[in-house]
Amino acid sequence: MKALVWLKRDLRLHDHAPLAEAARADGAAALWLLEPAWLHSAECDPQHVAFALACLAPLRDDLGARGLPLWVEAGDAVAVLQALHARHGFTHLFSHEETGPGWSYDRDRAVAAWCRAAGVVWRQWPQTGVVRLLRDRRGWAGRWLARMDAPQVTVPAGWRGLVPPQATPLPTLACLGLPPARPLPAAGEAPAQALLQDFTAGRARGYRRALSSPLTAAEGCSRLSPHLAFGTLSMRQVHQTTEAAIRATPDRALAHGLRGFAGRLRWHCHFMQKLEDEPAVEFRNFSRTCDGLRPGDDAGGGPPFGASDSERFDAWCEGRTGFPMVDACMRQLRATGWLNFRMRAMLVSFAAYHLWLHWRAPGLFLARQFLDFEPGIHWSQMQMQSGTTGINTLRIYSPTKQAQDHDPDGTYVRRWVPEFGTPAYPKPIVGERAALATAKERLYGLRRTAEARQEADAIQQRHGSRKSGLPRSGLQRRGTSAKVVKDVRQQELF
Ligand SMILES: Cc1cc2nc3c(=O)[nH]c(=O)nc-3n(C[C@H](O)[C@H](O)[C@H](O)COP(=O)(O)OP(=O)(O)OC[C@H]3O[C@@H](n4cnc5c(N)ncnc54)[C@H](O)[C@@H]3O)c2cc1C
Repeated sequence: MKALVWLKRDLRLHDHAPLAEAARADGAAALWLLEPAWLHSAECDPQHVAFALACLAPLRDDLGARGLPLWVEAGDAVAVLQALHARHGFTHLFSHEETGPGWSYDRDRAVAAWCRAAGVVWRQWPQTGVVRLLRDRRGWAGRWLARMDAPQVTVPAGWRGLVPPQATPLPTLACLGLPPARPLPAAGEAPAQALLQDFTAGRARGYRRALSSPLTAAEGCSRLSPHLAFGTLSMRQVHQTTEAAIRATPDRALAHGLRGFAGRLRWHCHFMQKLEDEPAVEFRNFSRTCDGLRPGDDAGGGPPFGASDSERFDAWCEGRTGFPMVDACMRQLRATGWLNFRMRAMLVSFAAYHLWLHWRAPGLFLARQFLDFEPGIHWSQMQMQSGTTGINTLRIYSPTKQAQDHDPDGTYVRRWVPEFGTPAYPKPIVGERAALATAKERLYGLRRTAEARQEADAIQQRHGSRKSGLPRSGLQRRGTSAKVVKDVRQQELF
């Protein structure tokens, strides 16, 4: 057997089934592809390319030291695989499963077809809790746990390389014709492991208190999201390290923080599963009764952005809406590539309800800003915060209330919007009260229709978690109080 390990978003040595399997081969090599389809996609930003390359540099050294060459090649997957196959005659292609954007789905289908034609065996392993070809969400949480509790894969001591490893330089952003990236957090497996240790050994103590305010979240959250997105850590290792820390610590505050964090690891896969099950939600509303509701809904037959929509969209992207909390968050995100959950939700809610923009264009813009862009989480959250899932309570965040709750003395706003309070700061681009009244009327009106209610049950059946075992309307029919329904629904996420 001659094996080629195709590294995708799994840039690590530890807990890596394809790399472990390749140790049994008579000759092996690893490949990472710089694909034009990715570079030219509307979600890709130079920061993503820079981070991936920064992860690859130490990984190539680690693999090389154990005898495995890592080739970094630019080109379409099929063309590159074909050329390497002609040169090295590999018989097996090993990779992790990927739940990615539409272009990666099309590419995987093309690679599968090529493998069949070339007689190459392509074997793929899961690396998160996402289940391929899932027929039903029943029992999903149990399957997630079984996978996360399974033993981590041992790193092979060495490989028999197809060729001797070489230390040729990796491409730079400049030689790829890309502008420089914003400053990045430390990339690669070693900093990721250190961050995980630091968080689980103590920093998680204040997690639940810190995660909502943008003043405290940057320190208080784990900041592991880019490492999970690029796979410098395996989800299984993060889960097992967290559970071990909960069991070992006598510190009740730390255990409490870690438990809150542990639940979010399941959310990660729960949201990715939605894109795996219905790839169209990258482009189309979960709730088709929302089609065409807002301008910019190309897939749903809505009108294109008009001039005033474009003006509002540009002001939102540039952090000059005249709503200081919104502008501060957007500016922090653009400068650092990260924002905490609540403030991400507020930015999207503002675009969807106050500015009445469809989620697709704001979602692409945010995808480029988030270093941790993870398509399954991202598109599900974009739709959830825009009210187009058809089944969630509409969550409309008031920027004023968010500022009162999470930045009461204005420290955060002053840091990111220094001109606030001077004539240089713009006036609000929309009247909040009127904009929200119109948005609510349109959306609640739509949800009351028989068509929307029927659709909601089908969406819940397909995508909702099964903690209560009952769809929303089932709970209501049984006379469960609105508060309990809301609590159960919140537990269940969506
Ligand atoms: C509109 C919108 C878009 C988002 N897009 C992304 C994205 O592209 N990539 C991404 O990783 N997260 C996304 N999130 C979820 C969340 O904001 C980030 O995971 C979190 O802020 C990352 O920081 P952290 O690692 O310090 O999080 P922590 O609070 O330390 O959480 C630990 C991990 O749990 C997972 N997690 C936390 N919150 C959520 C959540 N609400 N849903 C699913 N998983 C969660 C992430 O993997 C995260 O790294 C989005 C949220 C919103 C509202």
